[in-house]
Amino acid sequence: MSNCIFCKIIAKEIPCNLIYEDQDVLAFHDINPHAEVHFLIIPKLHIESMLQLNEQHQELMGKIMVLANKLALEHGLAKGYKTQINTGKNGGQEVFHLHVHVLGNK
Ligand code: 5GP
Ligand code: ZN
Repeated sequence: MSNCIFCKIIAKEIPCNLIYEDQDVLAFHDINPHAEVHFLIIPKLHIESMLQLNEQHQELMGKIMVLANKLALEHGLAKGYKTQINTGKNGGQEVFHLHVHVLGNK
């Protein structure tokens, strides 16, 4: 998606503070953090939002949630953290490339 800021981050056209990358997903620190730790996990596949999800995405979304916990623990959040997925205009979504927020204070 040529106009998508997160696709541009995936393509390395826009820099990010990278945490994790593999063939399916990318994790990076939010540019405007709302907590001591605030990072985003995104699929490399351009999916606009949760509204576009179907059965084909089950494995990918499961992978993202397991990774969210792994990276949260690696960032000192063993006492707990928040995950947030804003979905669609009425869900407060601003960047229309599906992403999971992980937020926490140490
Ligand atoms: P949304 O409201 O769509 O769930 O959240 C989008 C998030 O992406 C916001 O927390 C915002 O700070 C973050 N964000 C937007 N543009 C960029 C960017 O270019 N780089 C990074 N690292 N984060 C971004
Ligand atoms: Zn995208």
